[in-house]
Amino acid sequence: LAKTPMVIDGLRKRYSGGFVAVDGLSFRVEPGQVLGLLGPNGAGKTTTLRMLMGLITPTEGSIRVFGHRVRPGAPVLSRIGSFVEGSGFLPHLSGKANLELYWASTGRPAEKAHFAEALEIAGLGDAVHRRVKTYSQGMRQRLAIAQAMLGLPELMVLDEPTNGLDPPQIHQMREVLRRYAATGRTVVVSSHLLAEVEQTCTHVVVMHRGRLVASGEVGELAAAGGEATFRVDTP
Ligand code: ATP
Repeated sequence: LAKTPMVIDGLRKRYSGGFVAVDGLSFRVEPGQVLGLLGPNGAGKTTTLRMLMGLITPTEGSIRVFGHRVRPGAPVLSRIGSFVEGSGFLPHLSGKANLELYWASTGRPAEKAHFAEALEIAGLGDAVHRRVKTYSQGMRQRLAIAQAMLGLPELMVLDEPTNGLDPPQIHQMREVLRRYAATGRTVVVSSHLLAEVEQTCTHVVVMHRGRLVASGEVGELAAAGGEATFRVDTP
């Protein structure tokens, strides 16, 4: 049986100016869950996800993924696929050529890259043979997600993957996350929209001012009035 994908304990991030963006966060993610990190702008979601991705070091607390400590440069990061907005692609190359180039640059080419699976999950179809400069924003974001999925990581961490997308593109993005979770892997995704989390996620952690204010199954949270609580907290 797979070890628990993620256990976060007492996580805290204090930026150099003294601002505490994440203040004692603890939660766990179980195998097969799609966990939504929900909260208004400034709640500390991006800071949290950047720590989960091993991009920045926590001031205090720990993140364990499959039993291994996450920190910048940790080997376990190869088991975590990360999506952040604004991945740069070469516009004159096809989507597939961009992914091939990326994989060659990772230092992991000896490992099998799962191009076919990743592209199928990302739902780009024949567009993978077209130049990236012809892609819509939604297609670029799904290509970035395919890129993060090339090693078929057991855990995907995505920071607001639907940001800047129109409703049909948001729908396609949801399908991508669902297809990935359906392979038995685990997803952590941030959003500032309750409706989006309700439609995409199995579980939710609600953050406000760096702290966890509610968590549980998505259905339970809505039934307990999570929406009302969340609305009060939103500026
Ligand atoms: P958003 O949806 O706007 O990205 P968020 O919930 O992801 O919001 P964070 O980006 O984690 O929130 O930011 C939390 C707080 O930390 C914000 O008040 C922000 O101004 C502050 N912050 C973020 N990065 C830094 C930094 N490098 N130095 C100082 N403060 C920062």
